[in-house]
Amino acid sequence: MQIEELIAVKVTLTAIPVFFLAIAIELVAVKFFAQRGSLNAKDDGVSIFMGLFSVITNGAAAFLTVGMLYWAQNYQLTILPLTVTTLVACFVLDDLRYYLHHRIAHRCRWPWAMHIIHHSSRRFSMAVALRQGWTKHFTGTTLLKVPLVLVGFDPLMVIFCGALNAVYQFFLHTETVDKMPRWFEAVFNTPSHHRVHHGNNPQYLDANYAGTLIIWDKMFGTFAAEDDADRPNYGLVKDFEHYNPFRIFIHEYWGIVKDVLRPGLSPLQRLLYIIAPPGWSHDGSRLTSTDIKREAGLLDDTPRAPAE
Ligand SMILES: [Zn+2]
Ligand SMILES: [Zn+2]
Repeated sequence: MQIEELIAVKVTLTAIPVFFLAIAIELVAVKFFAQRGSLNAKDDGVSIFMGLFSVITNGAAAFLTVGMLYWAQNYQLTILPLTVTTLVACFVLDDLRYYLHHRIAHRCRWPWAMHIIHHSSRRFSMAVALRQGWTKHFTGTTLLKVPLVLVGFDPLMVIFCGALNAVYQFFLHTETVDKMPRWFEAVFNTPSHHRVHHGNNPQYLDANYAGTLIIWDKMFGTFAAEDDADRPNYGLVKDFEHYNPFRIFIHEYWGIVKDVLRPGLSPLQRLLYIIAPPGWSHDGSRLTSTDIKREAGLLDDTPRAPAE
């Protein structure tokens, strides 16, 4: 194992006891102090199992991303020194990289097949944060880290910033915290902003892709504020309630295989079943998030012609 992999694994392993402590605090707050939130040991158990298993699968495949970043290091335009300034710059740029990855993961079915795991709970709790995909090094979006290395950041720093970002995001997954101070809500991703991201209400779809800084959503037009009068319903837009982790893992990949092998499709249609937005279908029989928003009257564009 290379030093970069060790760093990522070490950050994750160091954070695990903190994660479990936070899960326990949330549980006590909801159960004994009537704080907002829900209790479901079975659902949280599935989330925790999926999280621990993701450490194994993603750890085993991490060499793919690490190897790629190492390779990119041979073509660096410059070599930036390890200083507090470059660390902060790397974190901010890597946070933008995360925003792009996350947005693609919701709008392209192949990476969505990995990320759907994270959205498969109908609840929102600290434990749900651990419900992570098992195939993150196979989505293709890890390529987005390459430019960071090319402009001069050390692969170790890039990986460290990504791990730090993931730790920050853990704490977003709670209903117990209502709103943070206004200035904080304006700049940073918060539980309120991330509850919106997990909501399946039409007005909350495809919103708040941020990792640590919410400014990216505000800059790129994907920000939605949490409406106290219309709180998020959590989970996927389709009926999905499974507690078998392996079934949850295979769900979307199996869907892709079945769609690609449907008889009578053109090669382009088969390809689109892999890379088009989730919900795309060759005969328009399913709904994408854009279709759902349009049906809810949230978009003012004209209806699209059915796909051929
Ligand atoms: Zn997401
Ligand atoms: Zn989340």
